[in-house]
Amino acid sequence: SLTLGIVGLPNVGKSTLFNALTRNDVLAANYPFATIEPNVGVVSLPDDRLGRLAEIFASEREVPAVVSFVDIAGIVKGASEGAGLGNKFLANIREANAICQVIRVFDDSDVVHVDGRVDPVSDIETINTELILADLQTLEKAVPRLEKEARTQKDRRPALEAAQKARDILDGGRTLFSAQSEVDGSLLRELSLLTSKPFLYVFNADEAVLTDEAKLKELRELVAPADAVFLDAKVEAELLELDEESARELLESIGQHEPGLSALARAGFHTLGLQTYLTAGPKEARAWTIPKGATAPQAAGVIHTDFERGFIKAEVVSFADLVEAGSMSAAKSAGKVRIEGKDYVMVDGDVVEFRFNV
Ligand code: GDP
Repeated sequence: SLTLGIVGLPNVGKSTLFNALTRNDVLAANYPFATIEPNVGVVSLPDDRLGRLAEIFASEREVPAVVSFVDIAGIVKGASEGAGLGNKFLANIREANAICQVIRVFDDSDVVHVDGRVDPVSDIETINTELILADLQTLEKAVPRLEKEARTQKDRRPALEAAQKARDILDGGRTLFSAQSEVDGSLLRELSLLTSKPFLYVFNADEAVLTDEAKLKELRELVAPADAVFLDAKVEAELLELDEESARELLESIGQHEPGLSALARAGFHTLGLQTYLTAGPKEARAWTIPKGATAPQAAGVIHTDFERGFIKAEVVSFADLVEAGSMSAAKSAGKVRIEGKDYVMVDGDVVEFRFNV
């Protein structure tokens, strides 16, 4: 499954957030380099539709989609030079499908900041600079090789031109993700460049920031087109220990209406380019994860690979139409259930029953 790699400077709250993600008790020490081994934290994607589906189908249980985060420790100035943790860091991040940057915006004189002050703009620049330098190193080797190939193979020219364009963008201090409209990402894919992965920014904030609309807007604009999530990692960790009522009170005390992890799950899902479709029956109401643009057979293949091969057709009703009709049979009588073939492109929230040969 696709993963987001969590990166950030030391002491910004990565471990605290990751603990909340996993509910594991990994040590969150007030110490740089406390986390070295990558770990995976899986968080479920909140989906109100599942409860409604479970009612309609009298399902025994609800199974939400999940989003996976990998904890990648070790970014510091110089990481791209491969010193110490650098190499391992770069290898781990290359394996992730998207980059989730944790940025400190909370104020706490007890927690040392590596550069001595809370400065999100400078922190983002520090991290992005290391990623950009790593990509420039990759291109330093790739461009001469592509030049050689393009001399004899005409069809390699677009790849060369894209690599040269990428080098210019990176030389100008920008990530390829932020400049995605300027260069064809599909031509760069073979180079697995770090900064062409989708970015997501998590601002680890305190109440003062979380309730400051102007500040939130400023940070959101700073990282666009990447998604921005604002949460208080310490509070997220505490929420897990509380009953529902106390959890809601704690969230309200910092001006929040839902756990930050819910917002993070949604943003992570969106950043990875994923969507869900739904199935329901007496056993379970379930959300399945597919890439945007997936066809009906590909969607069936997520349930079981045999379903993709043996795909015949899909019976599809939109969630809204199903709820309005009140039951599957009523939706059928109302003509809201469509028969779709192998070229059908799935829409988020489709409620589906597949027909297939086995
Ligand atoms: P990491 O080095 O990025 O993994 O940072 P940690 O998660 O270990 O956090 C470093 C220190 O900051 C710990 O003492 C945490 O308790 C503290 N911390 C983490 N998140 C918050 C937060 O949202 N607010 C405050 N005040 N402290 C936090």
